[in-house]
Amino acid sequence: MKVSDPNIKEFIDFVKQTCKENNIVLKLVNKPAIKLGSDYCGGYFMSDPKPIIVVAVKRPINIWLSILSHEFSHCMQYLEKDITWNKLTINKEKDCITEIWKWLDHQIELPTKKLNNYINRIIDMEYNCDQRSCELIKSFNLPIDIKEYKQKSICYSWFYIALKQHRSWYKDCNSPYKYPEIFTMCPTRWIKNIYNPPTKFIELVARKCF
Ligand SMILES: [Zn+2]
Repeated sequence: MKVSDPNIKEFIDFVKQTCKENNIVLKLVNKPAIKLGSDYCGGYFMSDPKPIIVVAVKRPINIWLSILSHEFSHCMQYLEKDITWNKLTINKEKDCITEIWKWLDHQIELPTKKLNNYINRIIDMEYNCDQRSCELIKSFNLPIDIKEYKQKSICYSWFYIALKQHRSWYKDCNSPYKYPEIFTMCPTRWIKNIYNPPTKFIELVARKCF
């Protein structure tokens, strides 16, 4: 598998072209990870102050392609003003993601109702993003296992429910989708109710990730 493979090239050209047309900065960085704040990640999309997609490409191609597809889908949510994207904004100063990070850092307290509401909005946005991303992967026939992609996506949503109970992000590199015994517990198809992981999932995440 190479960047020059026709399907992969076509996808990357499409991403580049769409970014160019919409004044989105696209950075494919030749590093294994990107520093974001005090953490490292495989990539991110940020709309503020200037929209930008950054992806670390010094890793297996199917891994960074799936990250590019995910972050590009966030970019499309932003460009299309998707309802799940817009609903992250609480008011001029506040958005759900920043509020949850402040809560995780014990800078603020949140009543249960608000906490549930913010978490569910983030889940809705990430779930919508991955559904878009899956359509891209299928339409460009990218070398990514769709069933596993869906499992990891559901795993990510379910992780947010576990996070609520533990008031913590996962430790270091212990993301739940790194563990096959965790992500294979998740359905291989999109499900309607994404907010209720089985107790067994929560227990395993608690043991491995926090
Ligand atoms: Zn995301």
